[in-house]
Amino acid sequence: MKAKKTKGFKKNLSFYRINFSFQPPYQLVFDGNFIKQMLDHNVDLDKQLFKYTKAKIWKHTTLCVLRELTSLQHLFPRVFKYAQGLSKINCKHIDGVSPAECLIDIVQPKPEFGGINNFFWICTQDDELRSNLLQIDHVPVCYLFQNNLFEMAEPSKTCKMNIKSLKEIKYLPNEKEKLIILPIQKEIKKLQAEKRMEKERKLAKELAIKIKKPAKGPNPLSIKKKIQKLNKTINKRRHKIKNKKTRRLNKQSVNNEIIEQNS
Ligand SMILES: [Zn+2]
Repeated sequence: MKAKKTKGFKKNLSFYRINFSFQPPYQLVFDGNFIKQMLDHNVDLDKQLFKYTKAKIWKHTTLCVLRELTSLQHLFPRVFKYAQGLSKINCKHIDGVSPAECLIDIVQPKPEFGGINNFFWICTQDDELRSNLLQIDHVPVCYLFQNNLFEMAEPSKTCKMNIKSLKEIKYLPNEKEKLIILPIQKEIKKLQAEKRMEKERKLAKELAIKIKKPAKGPNPLSIKKKIQKLNKTINKRRHKIKNKKTRRLNKQSVNNEIIEQNS
């Protein structure tokens, strides 16, 4: 049977690696329902992830998740036992909060620690929690797709837009660079304008020459033919007139002879 492929794990992981500096060994944090799904479908997560990342993973849960699983251990003993064996993140929720609240809180950037100070992948089968986590730009959100395939959710549109804006700002010149760049830009614009004007002047000059140049006359050979044709017609007409005159003169001379004889 052909192995199923994940939809976009590698692409999404590259996004987080490039834009948020995620590096191996990767830190995965599980909630109860992810652990249950993983155990129910005998998912070998280490094997799957090594195949995709060629890197080691560290598996964690939080004290709040464990607290909830402790209260449910009679229903899900395997899940509780598995969670007990994981490393526990000290979320510092002394009174305990829901697993969803806890997981959202541990990935929040902490200004007192200089902003983003964790590189957790949060693994959950809870749709609502996944969509809430995706609103925090730097958090890879993972789940099991088609029951047993490990998948990383596509970063949100807002996250992608924020990254794009940050990159644009990054490549804008600072005040010092502006002082150097602006005069150069002005000089380039000036040179470009001069070049354009020179081109236009050259074009105008060429056009003026073309207008002054007389238009080409008709083919002299065709004129010659026309003249020959006209001469022929004129000659024909002359010949006709000459013949008419001769005939009239001849008639007159005959009449004169008759008159002379009668007289
Ligand atoms: Zn907690």
